[in-house]
Amino acid sequence: MVYRAEYIWIDGTEPTVQLRSKTKVVADGEALGIWGYDGSSTNQATGDNSDVVLQPVFQCPDPIRGGNDVLVLCEVALSADFSPHPTNTRAAARESLEKYGSQEPWFGFEQEYTMLDPVTGWPAGFPEGGFPAAQGPYYCGVGAEKISGRELVELHTTWCIEAGLQISGTNAEVMPGQWEFQIGPVDTVSVGDQLWMARYLLYRAGELFDVAISIDAKPMKGDWNGAGMHSNFSTKAMRESYAAVETAAQSLGAPGKPEEHLLGYGAGIEDRLTGAHETQRYDQFSYGVSDRGASVRIPWQVARDQKGYIEDRRPNANADPYVVATLMTNTCCEALV
Ligand code: ADP
Ligand code: MN
Ligand code: MN
Ligand code: MN
Repeated sequence: MVYRAEYIWIDGTEPTVQLRSKTKVVADGEALGIWGYDGSSTNQATGDNSDVVLQPVFQCPDPIRGGNDVLVLCEVALSADFSPHPTNTRAAARESLEKYGSQEPWFGFEQEYTMLDPVTGWPAGFPEGGFPAAQGPYYCGVGAEKISGRELVELHTTWCIEAGLQISGTNAEVMPGQWEFQIGPVDTVSVGDQLWMARYLLYRAGELFDVAISIDAKPMKGDWNGAGMHSNFSTKAMRESYAAVETAAQSLGAPGKPEEHLLGYGAGIEDRLTGAHETQRYDQFSYGVSDRGASVRIPWQVARDQKGYIEDRRPNANADPYVVATLMTNTCCEALV
């Protein structure tokens, strides 16, 4: 007998990397093993030296096909010596976790996204060529005049649970057609593995409903909320002491750090971090308790309990979770040593 393994990887598309996948039919009992593809078609190689290697690093049951079939997330490596390809951002996350793993870093990422008509690119819930009533009733809304795409969200959540991903919730967002799911809390590498796998399942659910999923940070210009990937972070020390929580928040504002982090927080960050729509401006850094206009928020219950985690509100929805987790682990854990 045989089963199917869907090999999934991250390409080299600029400015925002994309998921790719292909199917391998595997004999029962046979190891999954490395595989390869044409990197010249994914912006990862030149045509005259096109072979790139796929190394399986994280697998889970395939909730779409069911049975014994599996989803296999891969790192991309160079065929010459199997070293990480320049677009392989997971390698740095591994190194970061190796260095700071004893501090037990945890992440919970809030992935916002927008459902679009795949032909016109117009958001779900927006009248054809026009605009709905202003924002206000849609966030966590209930009812057909406020909500579009809930069946897709439900299917995606079911698939994530069946795949064994640590999805921790979903909600309708401020702009019509915009939704969020959360993954975590899990470690620096796992949060990227699980979020990329959850993104994969989301795009696949979109195919079934003929809905394009966009993680664009500002899909609609004007007075409509952007889409972020709020990044919640803690270490063992932060989960035990408020001083450590404040040290971590302050470390993100140290000289040079905001600029360094914003480079890894996703394409088009200035368009989203305007100071409006529950953001701080991209060229200013602040942190505060319960402050959704700050770069970094300390949740109110963290201030009350005098321990817990921080929320970096700056990463875009289109950020690479491996890059965000690596930056935050390195900056905060170095300050907490
Ligand atoms: P918000 O109020 O900002 O919308 P959410 O409920 O959407 O918050 O997301 C909170 C996220 O924080 C979840 O992904 C959750 O797993 C994560 N989280 C909770 N506790 C911790 C912790 N100690 N360390 C890191 N992440 C955490
Ligand atoms: Mn949220
Ligand atoms: Mn949100
Ligand atoms: Mn949030």
